[in-house]
Amino acid sequence: MSMVDPVRFAQLFGNLRQRGKNDAGTWRVAWTDEDWNTRYWFEQTCRELGFEAYTDAAGNVWALWNGCSPDDPGYVIMGSHLDTVPAGGDFDGAYGVVGGLEVLLSIRDYCTKYGVKPRYNLGVVGFEDEEGVTFGNSLFGSRAVMHEWRPDDLRQLASVDDRPFTDAAQQYGVTLDRIMAVQPPNIVQYIELHIEQGPVLWDKGIPIGVVSVVAGRQQGYVRFRGKKNHAGTTPMDQRQDALLFAADAIARLNAAAKRHHGVGTVGELKVSPGSPNVIPESVVASFDIRAPEDADREAMFQAWSEGLLEGNVQFSHKEASVPMDASIQQTIRESAESLRYPTLAMPSWAIHDAMIMARHVPTGMIFVPSAVGVSHAKDEFTNPADCVRGVEVLHETVQRLVLPGGAHHD
Ligand SMILES: [Zn+2]
Repeated sequence: MSMVDPVRFAQLFGNLRQRGKNDAGTWRVAWTDEDWNTRYWFEQTCRELGFEAYTDAAGNVWALWNGCSPDDPGYVIMGSHLDTVPAGGDFDGAYGVVGGLEVLLSIRDYCTKYGVKPRYNLGVVGFEDEEGVTFGNSLFGSRAVMHEWRPDDLRQLASVDDRPFTDAAQQYGVTLDRIMAVQPPNIVQYIELHIEQGPVLWDKGIPIGVVSVVAGRQQGYVRFRGKKNHAGTTPMDQRQDALLFAADAIARLNAAAKRHHGVGTVGELKVSPGSPNVIPESVVASFDIRAPEDADREAMFQAWSEGLLEGNVQFSHKEASVPMDASIQQTIRESAESLRYPTLAMPSWAIHDAMIMARHVPTGMIFVPSAVGVSHAKDEFTNPADCVRGVEVLHETVQRLVLPGGAHHD
């Protein structure tokens, strides 16, 4: 019986967690030296552990084990991302990459020792620029691997200080031509282990979440128009205050989200002219609407946008919900049950590389509890015992998928 090694996992994870860390949090923002030094380290570590390791043309790091040689039935790939938000936590992304590496090690060592030939090859990926911090290109690496980018999408990307994405990427040898030509291994299944980043598992005291769907989302900006006038001389019943319209809309978005099983956020306001003694003439408000059911999300947007917003809405992202593979969900659940760990079927409210992968190959996602539901912050934390449980469930799941006789769902 193959087993994970909690000590080896803790050592690998401890090493990765130190990278880009300072008093404010973890900084491995994509396309910085902290990010790329971590990629080089991970690639080197995987090579020293005996895997075929390389960084692809989009900056994703792969470690592959061709246990089926000379046949090539394709790869079951585990992984997540190595980049972080600024002053982020050290579990988001990193946990799933190192958890995947530990499972890869344990299954390879078991197969090698007992001469077992797996039914699929196995590998781990550390995706690049999942967070989209600087250029707004979230899920960059997985989209690149699945050829979801068009050259023009990438050409147009720039940072707030007008630095083109292509410049930043080129600094690390990643060019548009190479991104378009990136060739991933032949992936037959993808499994992502990740912290929940929300409070649900923590509050319920359940160690394993089986992700059913990644919630779809609509993001964009809305402009509210009023009439600029004197804040002292304009009577209250003669005003057209753009910020008041926006405030009303924000309250209605909140109500619509609660009514339609979604979440809705206005996180950014630009008020013009932005003076204490002038009635606001124009307000641009961001919006972010998400729901596991697309119909709920549409209803929410409809209810919110009635009347007020006509012609003034600009979408920046609109993505449908992506369900996880039903058979893999079942395998994850049974794997956890065989280890006597309770599970909860739940949507992922955050986006993940698994959302992209699931559009192309059967994909599953395992969540572990985030202490107090904190994430994208220095205080992001998952108990060591919960971390190990997640790795064990990933291990059991992948064993059932790849080892002969280990598959319960053919
Ligand atoms: Zn993440």
